[in-house]
Order: sequence, then structure tokens, then C-alpha cells
Amino acid sequence: MEEEIKILNVSAYYDNKKVLENITFPIYKNFITAIIGPSGCGKSTLIRCLNRMNDLVPNFSLEGEIVFRGKNIYDKTQDVIDLRRRVGMVFQKPNPFPKSIYENISYGLKINNVRKSEIEPTIIESLKKAALWDEVKDDLYKPATNLSGGQQQRLCIARAVALKPEVLLFDEPCSALDPIGSAKVEELMVELKKEYTVVIVTHNMQQAARVSDFTAFLYLGKLVEYGETTQIFTNPKEKLTEEYLTGRFG
Ligand code: ADP
Repeated sequence: MEEEIKILNVSAYYDNKKVLENITFPIYKNFITAIIGPSGCGKSTLIRCLNRMNDLVPNFSLEGEIVFRGKNIYDKTQDVIDLRRRVGMVFQKPNPFPKSIYENISYGLKINNVRKSEIEPTIIESLKKAALWDEVKDDLYKPATNLSGGQQQRLCIARAVALKPEVLLFDEPCSALDPIGSAKVEELMVELKKEYTVVIVTHNMQQAARVSDFTAFLYLGKLVEYGETTQIFTNPKEKLTEEYLTGRFG
């Protein structure tokens, strides 16, 4: 097993308010790591640290290191645009641009200087990888907003995949979807880990248990327990983990 990302002694603040405290755990390559915990415990803040999305939030600051393939991504020399291509992100609410399905994917490719001749093949390949091709192949020039919520989310996944990332971050990817849309996205995440390293934030414990290989349980900004998902769910070491998983709070 190879560590793709190391989260090392990470603390995070909004102004002076500490919302993550001294978090350390690994993210293994080609596995799915779930970050779980009650609302407000810092899940979203933590996943956004992994591709420096929080840089966009004024008054955010971070201590510690996030090492991606041997390099601290918070190092001054890190190219943040390149980082966000390599560590792609899919958000809670599907957010396609109000353009065609085709343009939703071609836009990022053009910005990243992908050769013209490669654009169409890459679009087709990414839609296939996102398990959407069969449903949209005759509608590529139709507005993406015509798609169902679940299809829009898979389009957002295709858009991230098109940029040939190494890691995919999913922040509550199913919370705006119906059960059928959610099931398809879950199935897809399991398929995607063959090629990518996947991190998912979810408040849905059943979802974490179904899809993830490793789980990190956060509570009030601290890492309570990290381990293999089967161990965390069947034999947690910490009482707090057990109480959370059995629904005693949260
Ligand atoms: P979770 O994803 O587990 O619900 P968040 O990471 O969204 O938790 O939030 C952790 C804490 O940080 C919460 O107390 C939240 O109110 C606070 N927080 C989140 N975003 C901001 C922000 N932009 N400015 C100030 N406080 C924030």
C-alpha cells in the first residue's frame, strides 16, 4: 500500500477560531478514504485543505503539512492551479455550467492547453469513465442543465476526470441526489478507485460503510479514530466512535 497523501499535524483556523486540531492520517493510493462525523466537526474544511480550496476563503489559515507525492502542497513553490487539476473536486450540489454537455468538459481542457485533436476523444473517454456516455451520447450539444441531478453529478465527475487527475475529492456528493442517483454515484466511486485515489466526506454512515476502505472519524475538529472501515464499523476502539455509529449523537 502506498501513501498518496499524508495529512501531518494539521490545524486550521477561520480568524482565531480553531476548527481542526492536530490531524494526522494517511490517504492510501487507489483506495477510498471516508471522512465522517457530525455536522460542523470540520469534514468539509479538511477535504478542502487537500487541494487548497480554502485558499479562497479570507481569514483561513493552516498549520502543519499536507504532503502529496512527497511534496508539501502548502509550500510557497506549489503551483495551485496544477494542484487542483491533479487533485480534482466534486461538490455537494452538481454545478454544471449553463452550457452544453460537450462544453462543460471542453472548457477545462482548453484552459489546460489540451490539443484540439485530443479534445473530443478525451470528452468521450471521460463520459465513459463517469458511466454517463450511454445516456448522453446523442445529446452532447444539449444543455447540461436538462440532465437529472444524478446525471449532472456524473457530468461533474467526468469534468474532473477529463483533466487526468490523480486524486478525486468528493464533498457530500450524494446529498442532493435521489436514491437511484446516489446508488449510481456510489457504484462509480468504487469503479474510479481502480484508477484514482478517492476521498469522500459524508454524513451518511451507511454510505461510508458501503463504499470506503478506510475511515477517519472527526469530532469537534479532532480525529477521534482512523482505521480500516470494517474495523471502525464493527469493532471501534474508541467509545465516542461507537456512540456516534450507533446513533447516540450526531
Ligand atoms: P462539516 O463539514 O463537518 O459540517 P465544516 O468544515 O463545514 O464542518 O465546519 C467546521 C467549523 O468551521 C464549523 O464550526 C463552521 O461553522 C466553521 N466554518 C466553516 N466555514 C467557515 C467560514 N468560511 N468562516 C468561518 N467559519 C467557518
